Amino acid sequence: MLRLAIQKSGRLFDDSVALLRDAGIHFSSPNRILRTQASNFPLEIIFLRDDDIPEYVEDGVVDIGIVGENIMLEKQRGGKLLERLGFSQCRLSIALPKSLVYEGLQTLQGKRIATSYVNILDNFLAKNGISAEIIEISGSVEITPSLGLSDAIFDIVSSGSTLLANGLREVEVVLQSEAVLIATPALTPEKQEILDRLRFRLDANRNAKQHRYILLNAPKDRLETIIQIIPGMKSPTVLPLAEDGWVSVHSVLHEEVFWDVLEQLKANGAQGILVAPLERMIL
Ligand code: ATP
Ligand code: MG
Repeated sequence: MLRLAIQKSGRLFDDSVALLRDAGIHFSSPNRILRTQASNFPLEIIFLRDDDIPEYVEDGVVDIGIVGENIMLEKQRGGKLLERLGFSQCRLSIALPKSLVYEGLQTLQGKRIATSYVNILDNFLAKNGISAEIIEISGSVEITPSLGLSDAIFDIVSSGSTLLANGLREVEVVLQSEAVLIATPALTPEKQEILDRLRFRLDANRNAKQHRYILLNAPKDRLETIIQIIPGMKSPTVLPLAEDGWVSVHSVLHEEVFWDVLEQLKANGAQGILVAPLERMIL
C-alpha cells in the first residue's frame, strides 16, 4: 500500500482529486474523514493542510504528496521532486506601493518587506546582495504597506488584481510555482512498484492531453512531402483508399505544432482532415 498526502481543501484540492480520478483511481472524498483507501488501487489517501505535506513526506509519514512548489521550497523539506503537475500555477513576487519609484533591486536595500515566505525571500535577497528587514506575516500581507508596517511585500500573485486593489505594483518575479509530486527519499521496492504504476497512468494522461490524433486523405504523389510535414510518434500509418491514387494517413501531433502542421498539410494537398482528442497515450 502506498500512502499519498493531498490538500484537505483549498486551491490544490480539486485538481489533485481530478488527477487521481483521471488515473482511474476510485475513492471517497473527505468530509470529516481525513484518510481513505482507494477501492481499486493500493493507495491510501491522507488529507492534510498543504503546509504539513512537505514534512510528512520527508519524514516518511506518507510516501508521496502533492503540494505547491512554493510550499516545498519555503519549508526547505519535501524529499524528492518527482514531477511538475501543471496546475495551481502562480508566482511569488515582490511588490511596492505605486508611489515608490523602483530602480532595480537596489531600491530594496534597507527596506522592510512583509511576507509569509521568509526563507524563499531570504535566499533571494542574499543571492542578490541586498540586506532588508524581513517581517513575517501569516496572511493578508498586501495591506501591510498601507498600515505602515512594511515598505514592500513578497507574496503569491496569480492575476495581480489583489495587488492593484491594494495600491501595489509587482516589480520582481522571484519564483514561478505549480503543483508538484514529491516522494520520500527511501521507498521499499513494493511501494516503488506502486508508485511506478501510478506514474505510468499520470504519464499516459499527460501525453494524451498534449497530443491530437489526426487522420487525412492525401494524393499518393504528395505522400512523401506530407509524411515529412507530420512529426509523428514513429512514422505515420498509411492505408490505401478505395479510390485509386489516394491514401489515408493517420498520426499523432503535439498540441504545440498542431495548427502550423494543419496549415501546411492543407497547402500540400491533404483533404478530409480529421482531428480527434486522445483518451490515453503511452509512448
Ligand atoms: P491550507 O488550508 O491547506 O493551508 P492555504 O490557504 O495555505 O491552504 P491555498 O490558498 O489553498 O492554501 O493555496 C494552496 C496553493 O495553491 C498555494 O500554496 C499555491 O501553490 C497555489 N496557488 C495558486 N494560485 C494561487 C493564488 N492565487 N493564491 C494562493 N495560492 C495559489
Ligand atoms: Mg497553507
